[in-house]
Amino acid sequence: MISGRSLPAGLGKMLTMQIFTYIINFSASEVRIFSMKIDIAALKKEPGRPFTYDFTVDASQLELDADTELLSPLSVHLIAVYQDGKLVVNGKLSTKIKLVCSRCLKIFAHDFVEEFAEEIDISGETEQDLSWLAREIFYTALPLKPLCKATCRGLCETCGADLNEKQCDCAKDKTDPRWAVLGQLLK
Ligand SMILES: [Zn+2]
Ligand SMILES: [Zn+2]
Repeated sequence: MISGRSLPAGLGKMLTMQIFTYIINFSASEVRIFSMKIDIAALKKEPGRPFTYDFTVDASQLELDADTELLSPLSVHLIAVYQDGKLVVNGKLSTKIKLVCSRCLKIFAHDFVEEFAEEIDISGETEQDLSWLAREIFYTALPLKPLCKATCRGLCETCGADLNEKQCDCAKDKTDPRWAVLGQLLK
């Protein structure tokens, strides 16, 4: 007979660890996941009528890499219309983000604005949480190679000088070695 008291050694500890992991995951997801619930049932009652929604997403609810920081919460403005079994969503995401220039490594504030339009199939649903869409649009629109300005001249590869501020001497010496040989011959 197996009694409740005779748990094999180690199993008790394992169970405790599993519960512990579960708690960590649970609290982590509780922090991260934000909801943007759209009452589909209400929209279905009035097909073609636009419904407006505004959400604010806190930085702690997004997964950002170390070089990217939100300077203001992310505002999500949505206009949703129900039409022929579909949810037509027009939206705009906006915030101010702190980025690191990929050329000169300067930290700069960037006005992030992204507009989008999406059609979502919602045939049998009565509610739809659009946070996945906002996250997807936001992460996709984040610049992969941020630039403090389009004309940023970056840093000198040799001395590290910021070429936006000054022109260093090493930059001038960067000639093709084959031309250098020719230069020697012409002397
Ligand atoms: Zn730059
Ligand atoms: Zn230099």
